[in-house]
Formats: sequence, C-alpha cells, structure tokens
Amino acid sequence: MQYDHFSIYGFEVEYPKDWRVKLNPKSEKKTGEVAFHSPESDGMFVFWGVLEDAKKKYASVDEHVERTIEKVEKTRGVKSMDIVERKELEINGHRAISTHLKATFIQATFLRRREVSREVWSFHLYCEQTARYFVLHGSPSSDERSMEQADVFEHMQKTFRCHY
Ligand SMILES: [Zn+2]
Repeated sequence: MQYDHFSIYGFEVEYPKDWRVKLNPKSEKKTGEVAFHSPESDGMFVFWGVLEDAKKKYASVDEHVERTIEKVEKTRGVKSMDIVERKELEINGHRAISTHLKATFIQATFLRRREVSREVWSFHLYCEQTARYFVLHGSPSSDERSMEQADVFEHMQKTFRCHY
C-alpha cells in the first residue's frame, strides 16, 4: 500500500494514495472533520474539536472513549459494541487510547432481519499544545476487507501528528 501526505490546520496524517479525501466544508481550525474513502467504500475519519469542551464533559480521555462507545451502542439499529482490544499508546507524545471494536447491528428488510458485524478501529487523544482533541476512526465496507483496513488504521495511527 502506498501513502500520500495529508495536512490541514496544523495536523497531518498519511492516507492510502488511491483514496478520496473529503473535507467537511464547515471545518475550521478549532473543529472539523475529514473523511478518507477507498475505491471499495471503506472509510477512515478524523474529527477534531475544542479540548476545553471535551474536558467539561469528560474527566479524562478514557472516559471520553467509554462514553463514545456507549453513545454508539444506543444508536438505533446497533445491537452491541464489543471491545476486541483496548490499549494505551503514545501518539506524538500524547497518551492515546486505541480501541478495536466489533459492532453488531440489525439489518432489517421487508422480509427478514439479520445481524451484521463490522470491525471498528479508533484512537482518541487530547492535544494540550493546540488545545484540541482528535479522534480517528474507521471501518471496512465488508468483513473480507478487515485485514487491509487494520493495516491502513495502523499506518494512519503511526503517522498522525497533531502538533510540532
Ligand atoms: Zn499534540
């Protein structure tokens, strides 16, 4: 897999060369989001926001992660969010929480209901230097693409820079 360099508003990350980049037009330095999509419709997303706002809501980045998982679990159609792996690591000098989840949701059609599981990778970090929090998360478009997506996530996590 070959990667290209993406940088905006003072943060940077490498993404697969043949993927499409879509910046939310409302994005600004303090808060925003950018999506990266593969030709097969896999997606990786980066969100950023005001660190002070996150700190008002959550006691720590750990709580931020837990609440986010709970929120997704309560989303309509989502049956469960199982934690496959949760680890602490250092990203650009910050303590970050990286999670590998398995989301199970109900796919209902007129004739039948079935359960579908999809893997979700994410990391959360608080950057004091730029007064922002960052979240990167992504999912494959199908189970067959999980291995490749895991590699892409690892690479993006490894090359992520929130400040200099
Ligand atoms: Zn930082």
